[in-house]
Amino acid sequence: MKKWNLVIDIARCHDCNDCFLADKDEFVGNDFLPYSVAQPWSGHRWMNIERKERGQYPIVQTGYLPLPCMHCDDAPCVTADGAVYKREDGLVIIDPVKAKGRPEIVDTCPYGAIYWNEEAQVAQKCTGCVHLLEDGWTETRCSQVCPTGAIKLVMAEDAEMAAMAAAEGLRAYKAELGTKPRVWYKNLHRWDKVFASGSVAYADTDEVAEGAKITVSAGGAVVGTGETNNYGEFIVDHLEPGGEYEVTIEAAGYKPVTKAVTLAESLNLGLILLEKA
Ligand code: SF4
Ligand code: SF4
Repeated sequence: MKKWNLVIDIARCHDCNDCFLADKDEFVGNDFLPYSVAQPWSGHRWMNIERKERGQYPIVQTGYLPLPCMHCDDAPCVTADGAVYKREDGLVIIDPVKAKGRPEIVDTCPYGAIYWNEEAQVAQKCTGCVHLLEDGWTETRCSQVCPTGAIKLVMAEDAEMAAMAAAEGLRAYKAELGTKPRVWYKNLHRWDKVFASGSVAYADTDEVAEGAKITVSAGGAVVGTGETNNYGEFIVDHLEPGGEYEVTIEAAGYKPVTKAVTLAESLNLGLILLEKA
């Protein structure tokens, strides 16, 4: 059967928080029994936007990670008594009646996606807009409102979804947790990988070096390549954080330069001058 999946493209998110607000508009003050009771005015972020910067001035990238409940297929929050349960369509729901008075449910989520409603004395989270989907909606409130198309609801068979993930390079956030999320991210490298960057110029002319070849190696193997742009700048991305790398810059007629770096985070190597060969 077709199941619920959310595909989120990090490169398209610009942190407008429309999805966060649409969630508030839908759930604050509104009960949707048997799936949810009203979300409180403050303190809950059922769609949470995490933020980070990569690199250093002047080569800096921002990354935004919209983080709802992942509706995991192997969800540690699911309970044997049905207080938190998995539906056939893939959605994970907290039953607001059975889960009443059980704050311990909040701590079962490794993604921090469950919140405690003090007034209603119940654990709560993103429901995947199950009440709307049952009314025939083909969007969640967050996917409908996103102005850049960063969030898409995909109802698909698991095999179809796996094929789409492979074809489009979709990945789960923190897949190592082993919970098998149904939220898939595109361009997740902008969150969990690092880049090496820099600016290259010719020492003899003071001109920027456009088209210089960049090679990044680790343990003798090439792990990334790039080229300087018309400002002499380069970014080689998708590198594993924490690794030790050699960054080599080459341009015809000039001596190659190699820099050894440890990339605990994305790094701007600064200005690199090439001397005449
Ligand atoms: S609405 Fe779209 S662009 Fe705006 S914060 Fe949410 S995911 Fe990002
Ligand atoms: S993200 Fe957390 S709350 Fe959502 S299904 Fe997975 S474990 Fe449960």
